[in-house]
Amino acid sequence: MMSKNVIGVDMGGTKILSAVIGPEGNILGTAKVPTKADKGPSVVIDRIADSIRKAIRKSGVAAESIQAVGIGAPGPLDPATGVVIFAPNLRWKNVRLKEELEARVNFPTFVDNDVNVGTLGEHVFGAGQGFQNIVGIFVGTGIGGGIILQGELFHGASKTAGEIGHIIVKAGGPRCGCGTRGCLEALASRTAMTKEFQKAILKKNKKSIISELTGGDLGAIRSGVLAKAVRSNDALTLKIFKRVTKYLGIGIGSIVNFLNPEMIVLGGGVVEALDDTFLDDIRAAAEKYALPNTLSGVQIVPAKLGDNAGILGAAALARQRIFND
Ligand SMILES: [Zn+2]
Repeated sequence: MMSKNVIGVDMGGTKILSAVIGPEGNILGTAKVPTKADKGPSVVIDRIADSIRKAIRKSGVAAESIQAVGIGAPGPLDPATGVVIFAPNLRWKNVRLKEELEARVNFPTFVDNDVNVGTLGEHVFGAGQGFQNIVGIFVGTGIGGGIILQGELFHGASKTAGEIGHIIVKAGGPRCGCGTRGCLEALASRTAMTKEFQKAILKKNKKSIISELTGGDLGAIRSGVLAKAVRSNDALTLKIFKRVTKYLGIGIGSIVNFLNPEMIVLGGGVVEALDDTFLDDIRAAAEKYALPNTLSGVQIVPAKLGDNAGILGAAALARQRIFND
């Protein structure tokens, strides 16, 4: 019998990563190409098709062994039709990604939001294996979330479920990119932390190792730099992380009160850069906001798949959707 492989595509604003994934989640071949979003959707979709062909060639498997393609794309999008409704970092509006790619590669194609796909990847191949009700929270430039209920992604009426970055954790708090105030993303993302560092160092003349580690460029503080500053016990960094921990705790406490999932998987650059004591601190913070006994059965664990969450999750998506359809 021909082995059943699928293609997982992780589509980002700067690069497209495609991979041939075997039945056990084994990565058989990968190809990475620049997205070149400035050239418009049609060229980008050509590039996705090219990267898929390249990944198949590198894997050495026969094209006939490929069952389907899964894509994690920036959203909001409609997973049923595979239309990307709006993706600001690609400058896409109502792009028929599924249809357009199927016309180019001739494999059934399934599309979902990149954070949902990452959460699904952790459920099928990563930290969430064996658990059916999971919330994924990814802390990076922004904060994204995904919800798995009874083993399946939950999308909601407008297909926007899981926008954990935009739950309000401080009414009237700092302005968020979404236009409102006090969202988790506006208080606990790397972007929010960067603003705090800028305020403290540039306006209040606070001393911090961050100034040295960034060479004075506080425009974009990378997760690795934050991790180094934490390890060297930099007072300002620890203070800012304490605040981040508190707001993540409020967010997680609310999620646990509302949904009581079996597991919360925490990933993204900021979380990955730090050690597990950061998770212990977040759990302790969540304890303060969760109802008695609500958090006791909930595991809070680090994501396991790192940069491969996108391709593995997309592969899991392809497999689930072709099975369900
Ligand atoms: Zn927001």
